[in-house]
Amino acid sequence: MTTSPIDPIKLDKLAEVAIKVGLQLQPGQDLVMTTPMSALPLVRRITEHAYKAGAGLVQTIFSDEEMTLARYKYAPDDAFDHAADWLFEGMAKAYGNNAARLSISGDNPMMLAGQDPSKVSRANRALSKAYRPALEKITGFDINWNIVAYPNTEWAKLVFPDLAEDEAVHRLAEAIFAASRVDQPDPIAAWKAHNAQLKDRWTWLTEMNFASLHYNGPGTDLTIGLADGHRWKGGASEAKNGITCNPNIPTEEVFSVPHAQRVDGHVSSTKPLSHQGSLIDEIRMTFKDGKVVEAKASKGEDVLNKVMDTDEGARRIGEVALVPHSSPISKSGILFYNTLFDENAASHIALGQCYADCFEGGTAMSAEEIASRGGNQSLIHIDWMIGSDKVDIDGITQSGDRVPVMRKGEWA
Ligand code: ZN
Ligand code: ZN
Repeated sequence: MTTSPIDPIKLDKLAEVAIKVGLQLQPGQDLVMTTPMSALPLVRRITEHAYKAGAGLVQTIFSDEEMTLARYKYAPDDAFDHAADWLFEGMAKAYGNNAARLSISGDNPMMLAGQDPSKVSRANRALSKAYRPALEKITGFDINWNIVAYPNTEWAKLVFPDLAEDEAVHRLAEAIFAASRVDQPDPIAAWKAHNAQLKDRWTWLTEMNFASLHYNGPGTDLTIGLADGHRWKGGASEAKNGITCNPNIPTEEVFSVPHAQRVDGHVSSTKPLSHQGSLIDEIRMTFKDGKVVEAKASKGEDVLNKVMDTDEGARRIGEVALVPHSSPISKSGILFYNTLFDENAASHIALGQCYADCFEGGTAMSAEEIASRGGNQSLIHIDWMIGSDKVDIDGITQSGDRVPVMRKGEWA
């Protein structure tokens, strides 16, 4: 091990991949970056690569765990219904002017675990509302955007509780680098090959045009209707500004848009979910006509139910995604407590907002048109994992035939 537990060469490669693969940042394009303070070494590498690629202006907005906790400890109660709407309006304006967006993931997944769940949910709700103008431009794919991760110390200690702090950070960093393909001799070529593989999968699924998917496994018997005119996506994707980006680094999923009124049955989560600093585990949900009619969890049930009270669409799903159990992230055997990684280790669904881009011609559709085809709308978008090596998935064709899609978590 070097003096720093994080390999500086791989860290620099991760920054390069974020700019050249994740964003394909264009000369003259501005960049808005949001990040925890702890990721400063990566932020500096990314900023350097952004300017080398010809960035106009790189503007970074930092958050910090201690400052967040100070708010929970000392801020007056009614302050939890506020969020910095001016900030997100400003971000929306930047995206409107074609700025790219980069978000660094690396907060302590348990940051808010000890806080009052009602304050947490009120703050989340205010944040979701204020964030909307910016989020619409991201989910609508107006601009190229990307998320990468940095191994925060508290996060590393949660993932590797038995290791010394430096060793835990080292192991998490190596896991992030491997999942992000920057441990390979030519990471940019590796991403090209990976994107081509994902494209083969989503092309097949789009051509099959399944009416629904049926999931069968321990605690799960669920039918997910797919939206009318849906298409599948994954890996690299062209934004409305004409730039092809890889929104998530890493990514192993192919995903589409379910029909908000056609989900029926019950489903159990296969991994814990860390949602904005709260842990939600062993989720069991029952759906009827697309709506969650019952939700239970062994941990965080309160947070889960409060989050689903956000709006009408928060009790319906907006994303369905397929990931083989043998994905490299899954094979690492590490539970990351971070959706960017865990959602790429297992098939999943997301409560809330759908991606307009998962409709043919979707980015040009009105909200009403998307809704009429079954696309869900909500202030939230929360992925949780329902796939494992014990879950089978069938595609049901428009004429009612069954086609095996996954068997024991692998592509059939
Ligand atoms: Zn997903
Ligand atoms: Zn998602």
